[in-house]
Amino acid sequence: MNPIEITVPRLQRENIHAITLWPFIFYRKGFQDDIALRCHEFFHWRQAARWGVIPWYLTYLALQLFYFRRAADQHPLEAPAYAEQREVLRLLANEESIGEHLATLRVSTKA
Ligand SMILES: [Zn+2]
Repeated sequence: MNPIEITVPRLQRENIHAITLWPFIFYRKGFQDDIALRCHEFFHWRQAARWGVIPWYLTYLALQLFYFRRAADQHPLEAPAYAEQREVLRLLANEESIGEHLATLRVSTKA
């Protein structure tokens, strides 16, 4: 199973470029082809699928209570997704292959 990816004109806040609301991933218009961002969201989506969607969101929201004042990438469920996103950006900047990341996360590549 794969996420249903949808591009929308705007999300709830200007600084939010994408959000995973299982089974969907919503992208703000202009960010839908950002492959590093898509890896970040696919990371969340696959993790939620593994954990079970409800337990994942309950854990996410519970942790949010403790981490909402900190940088977004400090949240324990965000840290690995941001790490994934940064690594893909690093590989792209070095003109190295991101194929392994796309395969692991099973990120669909549009024709
Ligand atoms: Zn995230």
